[in-house]
Amino acid sequence: LREAKKGRGIAYFNRELEAAYMERVEVLAALEEALREGRLILFGQPIVDLSTLEAVATEVLVRWPREGGFWPAGAFIPLAEETGLIRELDLYVLRRVETLPESSVWHVNLSPQTLRDPRFLEVASRLRGKGVRFEITEYALAQGVEEVLKELVEMGFGLVLDDFGQGYASLNTLIQHPFCMVKMDRGFTAGLGQNPKSHAVLRASLSLARELGLELVAEGVETEVQRDWLLRLGYRFAQGYLFGTPQPISGS
Ligand code: C2E
Ligand code: MG
Ligand code: MG
Ligand code: MG
Repeated sequence: LREAKKGRGIAYFNRELEAAYMERVEVLAALEEALREGRLILFGQPIVDLSTLEAVATEVLVRWPREGGFWPAGAFIPLAEETGLIRELDLYVLRRVETLPESSVWHVNLSPQTLRDPRFLEVASRLRGKGVRFEITEYALAQGVEEVLKELVEMGFGLVLDDFGQGYASLNTLIQHPFCMVKMDRGFTAGLGQNPKSHAVLRASLSLARELGLELVAEGVETEVQRDWLLRLGYRFAQGYLFGTPQPISGS
């Protein structure tokens, strides 16, 4: 932006761009401060067994108390990714997870940048034996993290492929990396009862997962209609507002 200022002269400088830029700078500074001061908190959302509705695991989702409410991760994780702050954020979350009770299997989301951070394995190793699983997206796999994923599995952690089918999905991904669970992107769930192609993808993915020995989760289940379709398709695991919205984890 500074370059643009220099090159084209202040007269042409776009005020809207400047406002957006200033806002990013402010949000980033505030986020850095919140991290430093330990003010980010952990919410949890259950992954349930569709036949019993019991939680089989809890996904950890970071929240930022701000402006009288809680900013969801989706509102600031992209900025943290762009600026590299995500590594501090993820390490912070991992240290917090260390203090959680062993009453649940905790799923922790990780950025590809964190996987490549030299401090990561050491911090992760403190979670050994705690039944922690790491969720990563297809996008992370394009970034040379094979070795670290292998190490995590050797350390006893489960690996979960998140938002499958949404990004750089390649079936090869399922063969090359040691995942124990795959989460179908919520776009497919949204198509249940609407789009026959979503049904086809969900059905075919389930039979593929069975052949490969992977657990499969449908994400973003919001309605009973969607739940009923998933049961009919033979899905065992699901997650979404219908079963539980993210809630503060007590003791975090
Ligand atoms: P994700 O891991 O795919 O998590 C699911 C997101 O969808 C969460 O948003 C969750 O609140 C939301 N969600 C859950 N059920 C439903 C539903 O039924 N309908 C709809 N429309 N949405 C639902 P959130 O918490 O804003 O997180 C967004 C993304 O930010 C996450 O996507 C994850 O990729 C990332 N994230 C969250 N916490 C962390 C973290 O500690 N570290 C890193 N690196 N990423 C995180
Ligand atoms: Mg996730
Ligand atoms: Mg997801
Ligand atoms: Mg996501």
